[in-house]
Amino acid sequence: DLCPRFGIDASAIERRRNHVALGHEDDHAMAEICAALPKIADDVVDRFYEHLLAQPDLRGELGGDSEITALKGTLRAYLVGMGQGGTEPAYFESRLRVGLVHEARGLLPRHVMESFAVLFDALAEHFEAWARAQGKDAAPLVRSLAKFMWLDAALGVEAYQEAAASRMQTVVVRAQEAEGQLREASWIDELTGIANRRELMSRLEVEFDRSRRYEIPFVLLFADLDLFKRVNDERGHEAGDAVLKDIANRLREGTRPADVVGRYGGEEFVIGLVQTPLDRAVKIAERLRRAIALQPVNYGDEPISMTISIGVAPLRDTTPDLAALLVEADAALYQAKRQGRNAVCQDAAVPKDG
Ligand code: GH3
Ligand code: MG
Ligand code: MG
Repeated sequence: DLCPRFGIDASAIERRRNHVALGHEDDHAMAEICAALPKIADDVVDRFYEHLLAQPDLRGELGGDSEITALKGTLRAYLVGMGQGGTEPAYFESRLRVGLVHEARGLLPRHVMESFAVLFDALAEHFEAWARAQGKDAAPLVRSLAKFMWLDAALGVEAYQEAAASRMQTVVVRAQEAEGQLREASWIDELTGIANRRELMSRLEVEFDRSRRYEIPFVLLFADLDLFKRVNDERGHEAGDAVLKDIANRLREGTRPADVVGRYGGEEFVIGLVQTPLDRAVKIAERLRRAIALQPVNYGDEPISMTISIGVAPLRDTTPDLAALLVEADAALYQAKRQGRNAVCQDAAVPKDG
């Protein structure tokens, strides 16, 4: 149902007819010749397609014999209905469809206009012959015909344009979706759904710089799963993956949205705690560690117990750059591992009690 889509109701029909100066005298003129239309339709159809097929650049667009036969049938129906019921939505509907068909076949708006030019020529010749035979003046008849054809052409072009615009709209939406997916894929770690290493590093750089510039406390946590290799060895790689996903989730949910959380590598995660003093950061790290140690990961029939070790490194006046802070956090992590794992360590120095 095309009329609602194009806002064609009684008042729109009235307006469009007025735009091409189509009046009731034109309806009457067409009604007069109406009886002759079925007789001339076949000839006009044949001449029209003969003309199109003689254009080398159009021949390919028309398709095979069966398609041409179908197109001829459509054109014939159009001609027989020419100028009749010109105040009815059904008339407008059929004229709009002409534009949609052209657009769907990959033809151009000018092809719509050219088609009407060729049709007008063939029809006008028949109208003149008909008027001569009736002893009438052909000129008013041909003028009425022209108005109808302009109305029809305008509707065809309008529908063409609308169809092309909505096709373009679909393309734009698809491109936006694809772009969104690409963008997401480029920053998300596929397994855990948190930031991947590249995204992690770039967000850390931003927070590091901002914290240093405005002298806001910033602390880096370097977390590594303890004896994770065993999970893979004993429960399988899939179980290992499930553990990674679960731990990543807990790290993300156990920190504030503003904090940076990402997967640094295999079973290593880095967290940037923004606007967080060191003592508070250690408490957060402790809380994360304890929660994981106390709550095994649900998997299959048997939950998997997991612990993590965390190295803590605060931004100091003397910290040269992010890389140095990472090295420091990694050294603290190494310390936590040496202390027996399942630990939080904030000082890379060897503890005195060994
Ligand atoms: P440590 O406590 O000293 O850290 O011991 P670990 O076993 O955790 O450390 P190690 O570096 O020896 O082993 C890390 C393992 O993590 C080895 C590797 O196969 C596994 N791993 C890395 N990435 C993935 C992954 O995406 N999925 C799974 N299932 N395993 C992974
Ligand atoms: Mg490990
Ligand atoms: Mg590791």
